[in-house]
Amino acid sequence: MKIDFSALEDDVKAILENSEYDSHPAREALSRLWEMNLNQWNRVERITRLSDSYQDMMMQREKSISARYDKHLRQLEKITRISDHYQKILKQMNSELEQAALVDPLTELPNRRMMMKRLTHEFERNDHQKSCSVAMIDVDNFKLVNDQFGHQIGDNVLMALGKLMTEVLADNGYIGRWGGEEFLVIFTGKNQQEAQTLMEEMRVAVTYLALSFENKALTVSVSIGISQYRDGDNIDALLTRADNALYTAKSKGRNQITID
Ligand code: GH3
Ligand code: MG
Ligand code: MG
Repeated sequence: MKIDFSALEDDVKAILENSEYDSHPAREALSRLWEMNLNQWNRVERITRLSDSYQDMMMQREKSISARYDKHLRQLEKITRISDHYQKILKQMNSELEQAALVDPLTELPNRRMMMKRLTHEFERNDHQKSCSVAMIDVDNFKLVNDQFGHQIGDNVLMALGKLMTEVLADNGYIGRWGGEEFLVIFTGKNQQEAQTLMEEMRVAVTYLALSFENKALTVSVSIGISQYRDGDNIDALLTRADNALYTAKSKGRNQITID
């Protein structure tokens, strides 16, 4: 049975307010019951208010936690993007550094380190050692060029020589700047005669290089020492023979090739 509390309350109120029932024996008990009923309602209301505010609080909290979570997620994504970006830059810088460590900045040719790497690689491929030879090239009287034209023009001559020798050699050998005014060529898959012919071409080409600075003509020549791989050679032995051959070419009057 459904109880209509509102109507019941109205009835009880009406009875208690009616002075006719003031002396009724049940009035005192009914009045206390009414008092109790009011207290009960007050309690229920208080509890409801508390529960509502608690729910509000929880909803606020949930909202702020999810907002914070979203913010952290966005920050994390941003950091990841930045880190990816920096990793790319670092990689790029690394490869530039690696490149710089192997290339001579003046002539843009492979430097001595790179040439040694290349030779090491050749010597590790046993089957190719037999046809490996090197040519050591040294500019003749280069000190005079510096003395007469200045160091800057000396640098320009080295650049021009690097360019010319690279062109003459094309794909037939691997040229690099060994240091100072010395260059090195590594031949693989060429016999001594072939290497010699190519270097003779290069020697002649250098003498035809017509340079002029401040209206003063300048010609240069190179001396060349060639050595061919011999059984049991290590890199040092091969290079030392090329050096010795170069020394002989110098002492015989420069602008020529010697083979050891
Ligand atoms: P030789 O025919 O006996 O080789 O005589 P040289 O004068 O070439 O030989 P030497 O070794 O006495 O001199 C080499 C000169 O090359 C000395 C040095 O100042 C110069 N040189 C070395 N590296 C560079 C460079 O990068 N730029 C310039 N401008 N000069 C350099
Ligand atoms: Mg020298
Ligand atoms: Mg020299």
